[in-house]
Amino acid sequence: MRSSEGGSRVSKGPGKVFLVGAGPGSPDLLTVRAQRVLGEAEVVLYDQLAGGVKALLPGRAELIDCGKSGSRHTLEQEEIERIMIEKAREGKRVVRLKGGDPFLFGRGGEELDALRQAGIATELVPGVTSAIAVPGCVGIPVTHRSHASEVVILTGHENPGKEESGIDWDLLARFRGTIVILMGVKNLGAIAAGLVERGKARDTPVAIIERGLAPGQRVTTGPLGEIAGIAQEAGVRPPAVIVIGGVAGLHRGEELCGAKR
Ligand code: SAH
Repeated sequence: MRSSEGGSRVSKGPGKVFLVGAGPGSPDLLTVRAQRVLGEAEVVLYDQLAGGVKALLPGRAELIDCGKSGSRHTLEQEEIERIMIEKAREGKRVVRLKGGDPFLFGRGGEELDALRQAGIATELVPGVTSAIAVPGCVGIPVTHRSHASEVVILTGHENPGKEESGIDWDLLARFRGTIVILMGVKNLGAIAAGLVERGKARDTPVAIIERGLAPGQRVTTGPLGEIAGIAQEAGVRPPAVIVIGGVAGLHRGEELCGAKR
């Protein structure tokens, strides 16, 4: 089936879904390819996006807001996949726009599974991930020859106190590289306590970057043994990236990406 869209645009052949990374929040950190693909989109399904990125959504496309703060339950996820597939089958160019990189959390992998199963042509447009860009913008490189030669990125939805965690907390307590945690604000207390209990040094530096690259960006730092109390006192709230490891001690109060420009 072909798109029946009128106007000056030429029909572009069979439908396709583009899984597109929107970058870490600042609209000019979208890739050139992401911007081009967005400009050609007929349907855009987007998650909760930083305000600036929203302004780049093409006015003539059908815009579907899938963003919900907090956890989205299965049915809503299925609904998103259903719409994506349906629109592509109508011959449309569909963009599924996600924060950061589509394949780092945010269920991009599940959506690819669904598209494969439905036999829909799919393209990936990788994005700049908050896991690396947000710490970087406040002077924290996630690797550094003097501090860390390895980095692990995990979801903070998993609590080390949980009986069956999908995360190997013993391994993380021994890990000498950088630990980057997304979606970890709520469980920060349990995560920090769990790591200390398992032997991670209490004085391991931690930095929490809230609203990275956006107005209101803020960095809170402290040692692992005290960070939960410090964060609570400071009123730290999501979205935030938490960095645990020697590199977190490299923050010098600077702003390298012009968030406050
Ligand atoms: N795919 C995304 C991550 C999705 S999970 C990526 O690659 O960046 C959403 C989590 O990312 C948030 O809970 C938060 O931990 C982090 N995050 C995304 N953007 C952020 C920002 N601008 N500032 C701080 N944290 C951010």
